[in-house]
Amino acid sequence: MRQVYLDYSATTPVKKEVLEEMLPYFSEKFGNPSSLYGIGLSAKTDINKARAKVAHLIGAEDREIYFTSGGTEADNWAVIGAARAKKSKGNHIITSAIEHHALLNTCQYLEKEGYEVTYVSVDSKGRINLDELEKSITDKTILISIMFANNEVGTIQPIKEISEIAKRNGIWFHTDAVQALGNTPIDVKALGIDMMSMSAHKIYGPKGVGALYIRKGIIIPSLLSGGSQENKRRAGTENVAGIVGFGKAAELAEANLEEHIKKVSDLRNYFIEKIKSNLEDIDINGDMENRLPGNINITFNYVEGEALLLYMDTKGISASTGSACSSASFTPSHVLHALGMPLEKIYSSIRFTVGDFTTKDDIDYAVEEIVKIVNKLRSFSAFSKERSW
Ligand code: PLP
Repeated sequence: MRQVYLDYSATTPVKKEVLEEMLPYFSEKFGNPSSLYGIGLSAKTDINKARAKVAHLIGAEDREIYFTSGGTEADNWAVIGAARAKKSKGNHIITSAIEHHALLNTCQYLEKEGYEVTYVSVDSKGRINLDELEKSITDKTILISIMFANNEVGTIQPIKEISEIAKRNGIWFHTDAVQALGNTPIDVKALGIDMMSMSAHKIYGPKGVGALYIRKGIIIPSLLSGGSQENKRRAGTENVAGIVGFGKAAELAEANLEEHIKKVSDLRNYFIEKIKSNLEDIDINGDMENRLPGNINITFNYVEGEALLLYMDTKGISASTGSACSSASFTPSHVLHALGMPLEKIYSSIRFTVGDFTTKDDIDYAVEEIVKIVNKLRSFSAFSKERSW
């Protein structure tokens, strides 16, 4: 059966060039980077080459990049680290209602320890309200953590404005850029970012590796106790193959950034136009101006999203109803809820994300099949424009 993968925000395939760079590190280049002989030392050198590539992609200095096991660990480390480092100053953290669970659950963990967290709201397009953000600052605020771009609706936040608010008030600013990396230009210095989370598997690199950018001058304690890897800040033998793959993926992301954004946003627009002209009663969620290039979030009114997904799967089409973590559950998306959408619309919404290997032909096939499925599901739905209340 034909397979059309439209879930690039969940994960991306590892690019051939990335895999090729990684392979020797499973065999002949297997040395432990902490060892003081040839194959160990060269592994360390290669980690540092990868560090330079990741740093270059975001305009950071090499020594400001700390490799982690992924975006989740980077988010945990930034927030818990800031909380511990700034304990004597205060116990208040500001974040948004639409963060990834890696961030939200970390905040909840800290709330149990007595920290206070403000979850600023977003408008119907998913943009945070800067006034509300500034007004929620107290003399106990130690961290503002607002995601760069949302994983469900693709909305990009006004990062520079947020960092200016943080600076004005002497507060650290962390951003989860897991979805933004490789999809929009990022210059951490120009944007005034203090800490930033990244993940390799969203940019055609391997799973299980990511990084936290920590601006020099920011000191947060380690999350893990152990060896002195990563300049004594992140213990544990490095995932050398993964890090090398991340470096290559970052290099490719930087080289192809403009072309990638153009190609993927053209495909996204093509998808949206095509589906709009073939189906009635659909809403496009999120912000069309400030949006990740590959994101399409659609409410198919009067259709149960999970049923649509299952039927799509029988036609080889992969998409999701929310973040990968919640798509296997019936919990309604906290992101769409925060956008003010009623439950029935949330349950009728699907996220499609296109990427470097998507073709126009894939979209033609997917839209054609989706239209057929939606019409079928609507024909036996208890709800319709005429039958809803
Ligand atoms: N943050 C965001 C916005 C994400 O989309 C994801 C993954 O979907 C993560 C964090 C977690 O990253 P990782 O899968 O590398 O742990």
